[in-house]
Amino acid sequence: MKILVANIGSTSLKWRLFDCSNNAERLLHKGGFESVTDYPKAIEDCLAQLRDAKAIASESELAAVGFKTVIAKNVTGCVRLDDKVLAAMEAYKGLAPAHNPAYITGIRLFAQRMPSVPLIGLFETAFYQFAPEAMMRYAVPDSWFAAGIRRWGFHGASHKFIAERSAELLGRQDVAARARQLYLDGGKSPVKGAPLRTISCHLGGTSSITGILSGVAIGCSLGMSPQSGLPHNNRVGDLDSEALPYATKALGITIEEAQRQLTKESGLKGLSGLSNDIREILTAAENGNARARLAIDVYVANARHWIGSYFLELNGIDTLVFTAGIGENRADIRAAICANLDHLGIILDAEKNKATRAVEAVISAENSRVKIMVIPTNEELVVARETKRLLENSPK
Ligand code: AMP
Repeated sequence: MKILVANIGSTSLKWRLFDCSNNAERLLHKGGFESVTDYPKAIEDCLAQLRDAKAIASESELAAVGFKTVIAKNVTGCVRLDDKVLAAMEAYKGLAPAHNPAYITGIRLFAQRMPSVPLIGLFETAFYQFAPEAMMRYAVPDSWFAAGIRRWGFHGASHKFIAERSAELLGRQDVAARARQLYLDGGKSPVKGAPLRTISCHLGGTSSITGILSGVAIGCSLGMSPQSGLPHNNRVGDLDSEALPYATKALGITIEEAQRQLTKESGLKGLSGLSNDIREILTAAENGNARARLAIDVYVANARHWIGSYFLELNGIDTLVFTAGIGENRADIRAAICANLDHLGIILDAEKNKATRAVEAVISAENSRVKIMVIPTNEELVVARETKRLLENSPK
């Protein structure tokens, strides 16, 4: 069973092709294009690369194309991307302006190009379907809630991967299995041992932190849109709701311009005044740039804020996991986040931490109650797995 996972950006197309026959999960091909202006051609070129690499003979070999779709009105989980679902994505495109329009266009083009291949989306909100309502609500009037103004949570594919993989690495196959079939039974399958309490830190261009109880998310730092939570590369993160109307008056700018600045000129870029890439900011901070240092300090303080929140809610944790571009690669950020937490049982092994880059590793000290781990995420694999499960459980 060959499943193509397509990652669609406004000017990029990236893909991974998996062979998911039997119990295999083999990566057959991966590739991508940046600066795409002609999307139909990019899809054609992707298929040509797959044929040239002999990964497929033709697109009729594809069991499905899976997409890491972001958010849709009244739709989540893993679903077939029919016209109704595309209309639901359209209805919420304002919540994910960088992603939904590109996905809608891309999915329609895939549908035109290969009408007989099922197109399936795993929504980034899916992982939070079973989180306690109290963790997902804002204190707004009911009419606002009815309009979709609530926490949704994002990065679901990544945090679900971490939920499964961290449980496997800790020898908790029961929890891994529970996480794996979450979308089939809503996390009802029993856990054999003690509950497994995990905090997953996805630190990248967009950052989020999620608390996970025995494979099931209890909340996410990303709220109604991917604009919230920690500061992101150039997006603001959490902001007081009064700030936006106040800024339009105080700065004499339109609401659209204020939104643009919060989306493109804020986050690490806005704080540092330098760059949206943490590597450049860290180098500047090391060279004495005070704004760069402040940007890092704000980022770390926000990460600790969310870790603290889930630590309390979970009544302590068994494992703290770092993933994504920053989490996998930056030992200095991991060290700053874990500093002075020995009373909570969180103690890094400084040498192991320093030596770990983009590989699976335990980086906590022997005497740390909490296992601190680095686990490279694999969102595309989660999309392929869920796509396969949907095909097997609801054949058309
Ligand atoms: P992601 O969203 O997971 O692709 O992460 C992107 C961000 O992670 C970039 O903006 C960088 O700040 C950081 N990053 C990515 N790769 C590396 C790396 N090899 N070393 C350090 N930081 C990295």
